[in-house]
Amino acid sequence: MTTSTRETASQPRCSGCGIPLQTTDTVKPGYVPEKALQNEPVICQRCFRIKNYNESSSVTPDQDEFLRLLGQIGTKNALVIHIVDLFDFQGSVISGLQRFIGNNPVLLAVNKTDLLPKVTNWNKIRNWVQKQAKDAGLKTVDIVLCSAKRSDGFDRLLEAVGRHRGDRDVYVVGATNVGKSTLINRLIRDYSDLEQELTTSRYPGTTLDMVNIPLDDGKFIVDTPGIMYPSRYTEIVDTRDLGVLLPEKALKPAVYQLNEGQTLFLGGFARFDFIQGTGHHHSFTCFVSSGVPIHRTKLERADELFANHAGELLSPPSKENLEKLPAWTRHEFRIAKGSQSDVFISGLGWVKINSDQGSVVAVHAPKGIRVMVRDSLI
Ligand code: GDP
Repeated sequence: MTTSTRETASQPRCSGCGIPLQTTDTVKPGYVPEKALQNEPVICQRCFRIKNYNESSSVTPDQDEFLRLLGQIGTKNALVIHIVDLFDFQGSVISGLQRFIGNNPVLLAVNKTDLLPKVTNWNKIRNWVQKQAKDAGLKTVDIVLCSAKRSDGFDRLLEAVGRHRGDRDVYVVGATNVGKSTLINRLIRDYSDLEQELTTSRYPGTTLDMVNIPLDDGKFIVDTPGIMYPSRYTEIVDTRDLGVLLPEKALKPAVYQLNEGQTLFLGGFARFDFIQGTGHHHSFTCFVSSGVPIHRTKLERADELFANHAGELLSPPSKENLEKLPAWTRHEFRIAKGSQSDVFISGLGWVKINSDQGSVVAVHAPKGIRVMVRDSLI
């Protein structure tokens, strides 16, 4: 049997999803680059991406649209895999998720475990994640720590999906840059005969907002587009700085003994001030990507140093990229005596406060970036 494209008067269609093809609008359904029209069979860019899955649904919806999509899950009987980034946990948790997805159970996949330092107490991490998930109101049936990069924890994740799925479709939700595409890739390989499916049959339910990936048993893995939160540093920087912010390798904690009135610049991305503390020296540990150089100075000199050397001595980002970011705002925190705290800057990392003596610290970061104190992760 031949499948030759009989292009009479009718418009060519995608042999994956059947949508009419067009070459003009990259974000509208059915888009195919002009030169790909010569391929046999021709599939739209979206199906191409799913087939060669290394790119998540590429259209990022706005908040309202995203919440509408989540609300649709609430009307279904579904298992929801919520994938979050361990390096940016608070930044990548979808707040209020459970409200939108109703009583559907959540399997929390905590990705990028490879970024934590070699010596890590995993029991502590697990308990920490459990508490954070509870605080975020998630009804988790299971929590799996994994690394998409290293393919760590996937067996456990697949096993958990198998255990909790029953006869439900699986919806995968997450913020952008959490590693969702890598995870789905793996799920497809283990659960679906997709490559064959795609060329021989129609690819059902491919829409701009959710991508249905058929499983062998007739159910679906449904990929939802990644939500973009502008409160995460990774979402507002120039793409060239994204590579700097996202750590590639395990974090190397950098310990600083500071006196009152000293400041650390995290490149030109943010500034951490030690304002006041009981006792004299306090020790602080910075957990940021190795591409972010740390510069220590006196608090009284910090404003001037930034004014004169941002984008040069204090970089990245470059001067040009810095100017594209919102101006800094100051967040002051009083750290209680006896607490174990991180001062967390979403997408950039965190500073662990080692002393339990109590202190006052401040962070300067672009307006809108989420800065908060949390129980220390490590
Ligand atoms: P998506 O936007 O959620 O689909 O995420 P991607 O799969 O495109 O990944 C976003 C970024 O995170 C890329 O730079 C990946 O290389 C990186 N990434 C994904 N998974 C991991 C992981 O397990 N560990 C580390 N260190 N980086 C990861």
